[in-house]
Amino acid sequence: MELDATDIGILRALQEDARRSLRDIAKRIGVSVPTVSSRLATLEQLGVVKAYRAVLDPERLNERSVTLIVKSNLQTADQVATDLSKLERIRRVTTARSGWIVAEATVTNREDVDVLLDAVGAIPNIVDCEHYVGVRTLKEEPRAIVTDTLSASLICFQCKGPIAGEPIKIRMDERDHYLCCRSCERLYIEKYKKMKAGA
Ligand SMILES: [Zn+2]
Repeated sequence: MELDATDIGILRALQEDARRSLRDIAKRIGVSVPTVSSRLATLEQLGVVKAYRAVLDPERLNERSVTLIVKSNLQTADQVATDLSKLERIRRVTTARSGWIVAEATVTNREDVDVLLDAVGAIPNIVDCEHYVGVRTLKEEPRAIVTDTLSASLICFQCKGPIAGEPIKIRMDERDHYLCCRSCERLYIEKYKKMKAGA
């Protein structure tokens, strides 16, 4: 679905500073507080806004990054990536074409690197692994770039799965809710009504 100027204004304001109040955001982009609140609820349910967190600087905490370039066979790449993701020191895992996987880890000392490489080495089906210990980070910006034209892929508000084809769109409390099938629709409406009754 296409995001409009209000959605984009909210994302931009929050990406700059997640501690901004709804009132501040509403004033900044020229809409009402309830509008910001309902739009934000939708952006959260779509998984566009994943969390509100402080940005800690690993270098100020004497932590270093290690980038791993891992080669696996095409058939086993997803499993290798899943296994890599389970290691606590590994903070981000991306699969690429042809069985390549890029993983970013954080370590505190030289021994940590060895422990990390041992753990990675124990994962089956890795053909090759190169690692690079970071020396200095020159740039670290949030990965999502908020441009003036953005779209979000729809996920079902009930089962959180991707919606293939036309979504079921229902309007409650002046906002749209997206569901993938009739059974999710029924469960969601039940849950929603219960939540409203409890609130
Ligand atoms: Zn669903």
